[in-house]
Formats: sequence, C-alpha cells, structure tokens
Amino acid sequence: MSDIIKLLPDAVANQIAAGEVIQRPASAVKELLENAIDAGADNISLIIKDAGKALIQVVDNGFGMSETDARLSFERHATSKIKSADDLFNLSTKGFRGEALASIAAIAQVELKTKIAGNDLGTQIIIEGSEVKEQEVCSCAKGTSFSIKNLFYNVPARRNFLKSNPVEIKHIIEEFQRVAMVHADIAFSMYNNGNEVFNLKKGSYRQRIVGIFGDKYNQKLVPVEEDTDIVGITGFVGKPEFAKKTRGEQYFFVNERFIKNSYLNHAVNNGFDQLLSKDQHPSYFLKLTIDPAKIDINIHPTKTEIKFEDERAIYAIIRTAVKQALGKHNIAPTLDFEQESSFNVPLMRNSEPVKAPTIKVNTSYNPFAEKSSAPSRPKPQSTKNWESLYSSFEQETEQLVPDANERTVEVEPIEEQQIISTSWEDDEHDEQQTLIQLHNKFILGQLKSGSLIIDQERAHTRILFEQYIQNFALGKGATQQLLFPETIDFTTADAELLNELQAEIKTLGFDFEKMGKSSFVVSGVPTELKEQNIKKTIEGLLEQFKLNESELKLKKHENLAISMARSASVRSGKKLSYEEMKALVDQLFSCEMPYSLPNGKPTIITLNLEDLNQQFDY
Ligand code: ADP
Ligand code: MG
Repeated sequence: MSDIIKLLPDAVANQIAAGEVIQRPASAVKELLENAIDAGADNISLIIKDAGKALIQVVDNGFGMSETDARLSFERHATSKIKSADDLFNLSTKGFRGEALASIAAIAQVELKTKIAGNDLGTQIIIEGSEVKEQEVCSCAKGTSFSIKNLFYNVPARRNFLKSNPVEIKHIIEEFQRVAMVHADIAFSMYNNGNEVFNLKKGSYRQRIVGIFGDKYNQKLVPVEEDTDIVGITGFVGKPEFAKKTRGEQYFFVNERFIKNSYLNHAVNNGFDQLLSKDQHPSYFLKLTIDPAKIDINIHPTKTEIKFEDERAIYAIIRTAVKQALGKHNIAPTLDFEQESSFNVPLMRNSEPVKAPTIKVNTSYNPFAEKSSAPSRPKPQSTKNWESLYSSFEQETEQLVPDANERTVEVEPIEEQQIISTSWEDDEHDEQQTLIQLHNKFILGQLKSGSLIIDQERAHTRILFEQYIQNFALGKGATQQLLFPETIDFTTADAELLNELQAEIKTLGFDFEKMGKSSFVVSGVPTELKEQNIKKTIEGLLEQFKLNESELKLKKHENLAISMARSASVRSGKKLSYEEMKALVDQLFSCEMPYSLPNGKPTIITLNLEDLNQQFDY
C-alpha cells in the first residue's frame, strides 16, 4: 500500500483548531477584549450586530501593531507575549497561546485596522478563511480595530449549531461583564444593533460593579479585604438578604482573570455560615491576587479553570475573610435565622407517659371523589380521640386513588403543626372536609386509601405551568390592568433579554413598554399575580429563563412557562387559608399531570394506607 498520511493544509488545520478556541460569538468577544487589554488600552468599545453572528467589532486605543506584526498576528502560535516555556509560569498578560486570531481568521471574514503611536499611517488587512485578501496602508486612529464578520460562514455545521439571538447575546454580555468588571481602570462600552448596552466610565471596583448591575447594588455590597502571603483578597460579597435562588452574580477573579472554581465557591458559602438557607446563593465579586508561579492556568483551553498549589489554605482564607466581613458589618447578629423546615421530633423518653398529639384529621376527605358519586355517610366528628381515627382507617381500605407513582414514605411523628380544620358545606352531602397545612409548606389531605401530602409551592408551579402553556397555545393570557402603571429599572442584561422576549412575555399576560435604556413601564400583569411584587417576579422569570436555557436547553415557550410558573408560584413558608388550600388542591387535580413538575420532581406524595398499617405492624 502506498503512503497515505498527508499534512493538512494550514487553513484546514486552523479551522479544526478553531473549534477549541472559538465555540460561539462570545468566545471571539472574550479573545478580542483580552487582546485590547494586553495592548494597554484604556478605552475599549464592543460593537455587536445580530448577536455577533453578523458582526463583532472591538475598537481599542492601545499601542497598535506595526505592519509586520499586523500580518504575523494571524499566524498560529504567533504571540508577542511569551518567548519561552518558562514565561508560562510568570504570566502578566491574558493571552499567551497565540491562537486566537489564527482561529478567528480561519472561520470568519476579518478586517483589521491598526496604527502605532507616532506613525501617520496604519495598516489594514482583510483576511477570510485564513486567506489574506487585502493588505494596504490606511489612515486610522492610534490603536486597533478588529471586525469579525459572519462568524462560521465557512463551517455551516457550526453556524447552524449557534443558539437563538437572545441566548448568544446573553453569553456575549456575560463575557463582556467578566472582562469589564475586573478592569475598572479601563472605560468600556458595548453596543448591540446600534443600541448602547453599557457605557462604563473609569472608576473604582465598586463603581464598576454598580455600573454593570445597576445603582441598587451599591447598598448590597459588603467589602471583603484580606492580605496574606499566600493570597490577597479584595472585593465584595452581597448582603445575605439579597441572596438569590439561583446562582447569579458569583465572580472570582485570579490575577484579573475570571475563573470558576466550585471548591472556592464552597468556601464563600461556608463563610456565610447559617445566614443563608440551603437553596439560596450569595452574590460575590472577589479578586484574588496570587503569585503566578503558584497557579497553573493552562489546564483548560478556554481558561476559566485554574489549579492552585495552596488550594486548602486559600479555601480557609476566603472563608474567614467572608465571615469576618459579614461580622464587621453587623450582619450576622441582626438576622433572623430561618428554621430548617423538616419533620423533626424530639425522641420520647421512656419514663414519660405517651401523650396523643392533638391532631384533628378528617377521615372522609377525598379530593378525588366526584361530588355526585361520593356516597353519603354519617358526618364524621373532627376526631379528637385516636381510636376513632384508626377505626375509620381500618374500615376504609378500598383503593380509590390511581396511584401513579407508588412510593413508600417514612414519616416521623409530627411535633408541631398548624391545624386548619374549617368545614365547608357540601349542599348534597353536608360533608366536612379537612386540609392541614404543615410547616407552612405542605398540605396534608386525606384519601379513602390513605393520605396525601402536597407540596404547596410545587403544586402551584404545576398549575401555573399548565396555564402558561395554554396561554402560548391560545396566543394570549389574561391581563389585569394596573391602576397605577409601574416604572421598573432592570439591569442592562435583563433589559436586553426582556426586550428580546417581549412578545412571549406579553403572551404570559404582562403588558409593558420600554422606556429609556433599561426601564420599562408595566401597565398590566397576569391576573393571578395580583399581590406579588412585579419587579421581583419579572426578575425571577428572567433569571430562571437564563438558567434553564443554559442548563436544560428547553424550548423557548416551555422554558418561559416553567420560569414564570416558578417565579409566580406561592412560596414554601406562606401560610395559606383553608380556602386557598382548597382551591390549590382542586386546581392541581384538574391539571393534566398533577403528580409532578415538568422536571419530574413530585408534587404529591401518597401515603398508602396499607403501607401505614404495615409500618404500625397491623
Ligand atoms: P495571544 O493573545 O495569545 O498572544 P492572539 O492570537 O490573540 O494571541 O494575538 C496574537 C498577537 O497579536 C498578540 O500577541 C499581539 O502581539 C497582537 N495583537 C492582537 N490583538 C492586538 C491588539 N488589539 N493590539 C495590539 N496587538 C494585538
Ligand atoms: Mg489573545
């Protein structure tokens, strides 16, 4: 057989390698912004069209490139930033691999204009698919401008793989924020389709964070400062009362480079100690300074993960610094600690007589029963004595519930509970029914064949989810017009997203108009939202949407429906009146899929009577 191995042409090799460095428009944005910073610029603009699919342009006022460097910058492994492998351990620049421009030029149409200080004329280069189309002198400002047009134009599989514009722009904004946040001494601006998204002046770190996330952040930040031989820490954590249900603003920078590190994230959470409940995530904006020789940033191609030599020590220092910062600002002592809600019971001591807990349980309650088919039976007393409770259990063993997800649950005795035993009159049967709210979180109801426990928050989420899906099918949800329209300011990123999703969010029942850069006037809300805080609900909706988009890859309507349902549902912890519980249970059972959330988590747990009997050894 003749020889068959051939070296790939450069353009093809670059295209393949590009896949590693440039996954989406946001990756190109990151590389170009970092190059501009490495070039010493103090003013950088990012211009985006069509979520970066049509244009990504970065203009800087840095030191520019000579004619030769301009041409060389597109070669693979061409870099001015390191000379030998040793330099890798003493990096002071963002870039060092010399791959970004070669990669970008392989998969896009690139126009570079650059001029170094003191020269009258600069250089212009047009390069497409690694092929130089044009190189000439030009007149331009000192500094560099890269325009990346039609990313992936020659790699259709990649281009088709790109997500919708709202998603791609969200990634771009995220990259922009990560870079801009940690360089408060550089002015940054960003434009999307001609609209100004950010205009960040030079200033302090605090000013930069506030510039990115909005004025309200000023009062949310607690400074964290710590200086040790191993690591220097400076930055802020968010006050616990502003913690979010989803991981939102969590930023670690190591030597001015954004990194992700779940171990260190844990250290911050730990520093908050008991100030947060399990499902809350603190915000933080922490800049770490570490001797470059003690970290290895080279383990990941997109460089958001790094290895530390002294990981454990850094963990301990971060945790302590956060703890102290919160303590210093008098946050720790003033907070109410939310009790963990769980069925926890003190163990009974043998010497004490066993007292029957004072629970009233209505043994005839059955949310599944059709009114007309329910047999009339003697009015049960609200049971004070335990015998009658058990005897009714024993009598009614008939299996009525189609037990979709049969599960056995271990229930411990209940120490303390809120008992609501209101009766409502059923005209035909004069039947008393009982629903009990436990821990302001669960609703306990009774079936002929046992009992059921409903998670109030999940149940409401399921109900709303189905309603919103129906809104999308019908094209419109019911809106309640507000007497006084509310003007709401959003963070720039949220405002962009809201703008992109305008039509769909209106279908959910909102009525709003954009007013100014990141403000909206909300004049109508979905009818079921009556009492909720509108701003929080919309923010919650957007936050959930972003999270689902990146983690679950849901379809847009499904994502919006579940996000809105999550954001608008009654919360665990809310005390419900009997009527509210009744309505919730009724609505849940008229859902198509009452038993679980779309993600499969249960809304209802049934306690099969037979199992209960078994557990009590009957
Ligand atoms: P790296 O940043 O890893 O060196 P790049 O491919 O991103 O690799 O850039 C290659 C080289 O091009 C850089 O080392 C730098 O010398 C030059 N360069 C890139 N962007 C700029 C810019 N905005 N201003 C000045 N020089 C630049
Ligand atoms: Mg670079």
